[in-house]
Amino acid sequence: MENQDCIFCKVIRGEMKTEIQYQDEHVVAIKDIRPQAPVHLLLVPKRHISTLLSVKDSDQALLSHIFQTANEIARKGGFADNGFRIVINCNPNGGQTVYHLHVHLLGGRFMTWPPG
Ligand code: 5GP
Ligand code: ZN
Repeated sequence: MENQDCIFCKVIRGEMKTEIQYQDEHVVAIKDIRPQAPVHLLLVPKRHISTLLSVKDSDQALLSHIFQTANEIARKGGFADNGFRIVINCNPNGGQTVYHLHVHLLGGRFMTWPPG
């Protein structure tokens, strides 16, 4: 179900000025407003799912599609071979601030470990 106040649902409904990098029936990819790397995109399912914990078995195809889309964007963007990072933050200790599931795709620089 769409969430009236959710900012990513607003982006998906076209109610917020956002540069959409890619979209299809199931997912949109947008630039993060506070980029942490030369490439920092958010892959957002069009259906509102609040956190990773809400993902169901029936979402398998959707999750696979999101990861394949990230791979495709990395390949087309020319940063796949050098490498990139996928992040899903879950709940407060995971650093989640927007409660609509999204996958961060970070690339274009060397990533350190551990994360902060
Ligand atoms: P989280 O902390 O929930 O994993 O990630 C949320 C991300 O969304 C943050 O990196 C933040 O910079 C980004 N963000 C927050 N509000 C907006 C917005 O209105 N537009 C876009 N494009 N990104 C946003
Ligand atoms: Zn939402």
